[in-house]
Amino acid sequence: MRVTWTGADLTFRLDPDDEITGKASDEYPIKLATNSCSVGGVPGDAHPDLFALAAWTIVAPWTRRRVSFDRAISAELAEALHVGWGIDAGPVGAEQRGPGDRLAISYSGGADSVAAAAIYAEAPFVHFQRVPHRRVPNRWPHYRSDVLARLAERTGRELSVVTSDLEYTLAEPRPGYPEHHAVAAGALLLADQLDLGGVAFGYELGSRWLGGDRYVLRYTPDNPMWAPHGRWGRLFAAAGVHIVLPVGGVSEAVTMRLALNSDLRTYVRWCLRGTDGPCRACGKCLYKELIQAAIERRPLDTPMTARHRAAQSWLKKPPYGGQEMVEYGLARVPGIEHTLFAEVLDYFDATEESSAWLDHCYPKALDEIPAPWRAEAAAYMEAHVGLMTHDEVRRVETWGT
Ligand SMILES: [Zn+2]
Repeated sequence: MRVTWTGADLTFRLDPDDEITGKASDEYPIKLATNSCSVGGVPGDAHPDLFALAAWTIVAPWTRRRVSFDRAISAELAEALHVGWGIDAGPVGAEQRGPGDRLAISYSGGADSVAAAAIYAEAPFVHFQRVPHRRVPNRWPHYRSDVLARLAERTGRELSVVTSDLEYTLAEPRPGYPEHHAVAAGALLLADQLDLGGVAFGYELGSRWLGGDRYVLRYTPDNPMWAPHGRWGRLFAAAGVHIVLPVGGVSEAVTMRLALNSDLRTYVRWCLRGTDGPCRACGKCLYKELIQAAIERRPLDTPMTARHRAAQSWLKKPPYGGQEMVEYGLARVPGIEHTLFAEVLDYFDATEESSAWLDHCYPKALDEIPAPWRAEAAAYMEAHVGLMTHDEVRRVETWGT
């Protein structure tokens, strides 16, 4: 793989042994659409390791044996690529970048990142905004990235909006991040300018510890995407930008409660479709409505029925990602047996008591937050959430077995 940055335009050329089909670090199969993209709203200059790492979040799935960058990287970054991926990276010749003093929040506007923002009230936001690719047609116009960017602006926080078409480098399954970490490509290129030593992501308990999302659905202390000792954690650290998961110890019920109780509640938006509010007709809206009804102790409020196509991911037999939250919702929403979820009640025997672990914080998630930002997150969790008991910790650590 040969990587070239021209300003903020990235092009990459595959070697003969590279392939246009690949797998993201969560093993999800993906296919390349095009070998160029750009990142807007970032400075023209940054440490070469930051350019290399930003590119790697986009080219990693297609690279088999080696990657050559257009400027020399540090020996430490090359070593992290070698240990993590078995890839030879070069040329080598730059001094390693030392971590900066500040933490930025990778801010999507969803409940998880709003909860992260509530913990670090002074942290600047970096918001990733999808823009069209100059050559790949946009067949996904319902994705209202402009609405989300406007909401981020209205928060009043120090904000950098990064515009990018990098998601269109994917042909299959649809436009999206080649690696989950590509959402941080702009934050990485801004890291020198903003003096960043870390980027906080809104990945919660399910994504970090329960193998949720598209992943393995069991307890994953060594999660390759998000564990500090995993390959991505070590690579980010080598570039002086630590991965920080302030809400990695709490469930989506807790992040939603924290987000809806925070100063930013007006700007929370997890639906990518609606303009004046959530669309109430997509699978994500249904899933989040179940969680919100559970924490607000009220009946489910949705126009969707069990026949709705978008409802199917939450109406199937477990296991699946997000299952712990469906369980949580089914145990708590009054009158759930008269809703579209009636037909899946047989798959679950959750009670409020058996799902109470999802209301507390898994302590190991706080331990792995890098030292400069740990105390603030721990104090926040102790004050607003509470730590899991030994029995609750065991629920996390036996998940999926
Ligand atoms: Zn929606």
